[in-house]
Amino acid sequence: MQHITVLGSTGSIGNSTLDVVARHPDKFSIFALTAATQVDGLMKQIQRFSPKYAVLVDEDCAKSLAERVAAEGLDTQVLSGQAGLIAVSEDERTDSVMAAIVGAAGLMPCMAAARSGKKLMLANKEALVVGGTCFMAAVQSGGGTLLPIDSEHSAIFQSLPENRDFWPQRVDKIVLTASGGPFRTRDIQTLSQVTPEEACAHPNWVMGKKISVDSATMMNKALEVIEAHYLFGVQPDRIEVVIHPQSVIHSMVQYVDGSVVAQLGTPDMRVPIAFGLSWPDRVASGAAPLDFSKVPPLTFQAPDPQRFPGLALAWQALLAPAGTTAVLNAANEVAVDAFLKRSIRFDQIHMLNQHVMERCVPDNPRTEADLLDVDAHARRTAREMLVNIAH
Ligand code: NAD
Ligand code: MG
Repeated sequence: MQHITVLGSTGSIGNSTLDVVARHPDKFSIFALTAATQVDGLMKQIQRFSPKYAVLVDEDCAKSLAERVAAEGLDTQVLSGQAGLIAVSEDERTDSVMAAIVGAAGLMPCMAAARSGKKLMLANKEALVVGGTCFMAAVQSGGGTLLPIDSEHSAIFQSLPENRDFWPQRVDKIVLTASGGPFRTRDIQTLSQVTPEEACAHPNWVMGKKISVDSATMMNKALEVIEAHYLFGVQPDRIEVVIHPQSVIHSMVQYVDGSVVAQLGTPDMRVPIAFGLSWPDRVASGAAPLDFSKVPPLTFQAPDPQRFPGLALAWQALLAPAGTTAVLNAANEVAVDAFLKRSIRFDQIHMLNQHVMERCVPDNPRTEADLLDVDAHARRTAREMLVNIAH
């Protein structure tokens, strides 16, 4: 029996994880569930999965959840704050941690899980983009396993040789596929008028708001390029992005002999989630199998740098001083939040990201604390710049 902590259980990935878990009660049980503020959502999950712990980051929300848990006579213990997230991530009674918090807020619990040698299933790409080599070193020192949940990285992991030692000499290129999001064919002149509702309406996936906006700007793919660099140890010039609007091929590995290995499937996050939960075994995910008689023609095109200027920031950040990927991530979190609140325009997300990256040059951050300082400084800079551009 695998005892699982789900960080960010009330979100899109969190709910899909619980859907797969519920299909295999003989294999998986829930140790802890966590969320930011969602009292009702977490209460329903507690009733269904009876975890040992539930964590709400917000203190007041945690208090009202604890009252409701007590009123129903349930056994779940309620914790709060970052301390609560860290406690359930490193507890010796949990075997694996699904990291499905959105943003850099997930860094500390991820690091705690990594250091204590858990099987860490990583959906929370921002944590790795901020943590970088420090994050990978924590995985190494803990002796646990890091499994990607992002569909592209799960596809790459499945297309790579099992033995990591063979990767450098055999792999020529990692090819990340991207759907191109909702604005792939929209008139570029009108991108400044995009509303949050339009940006969140993704053609192929239903996801949280932050990653939906990131998919529309293709900053999501930029974060994924950085994620691939750290996860697989590939140099930035060996990572390529190709637009593939049907989202059937989830990514590919090109070998030195010219052979390309890809992973395919219906666009349903339960597939990479089930893979992460059961690896190296396989279990049913609930996703519909691919019906080749109905699959539309698969097409590919290079991303247009004018339409998606944010994509190039990934390579710029990877070639800049260490810690710059954390700067880019922080700027983007502030920018997306401001866009969702209608304080800045869609096209200003990129402007802000670029300016903050130019302004904030990290001074060789080494530890998690250094990286959190870099993150905080970039956020402050982004907020100052926002004042000048907000309408
Ligand atoms: P979401 O917004 O639907 O859910 C986020 C979860 O994190 C919620 O449970 C929320 O309560 C919690 N949370 C939010 N802020 C928090 C904070 N400050 N501290 C602690 N908890 C907090 O997001 P999502 O779409 O499920 O995405 C989660 C992560 O997975 C993101 O990093 C995203 O990039 C990645 N991801 C998502 C998908 C997808 O299909 N949704 C696919 C690939 C990767
Ligand atoms: Mg992805």
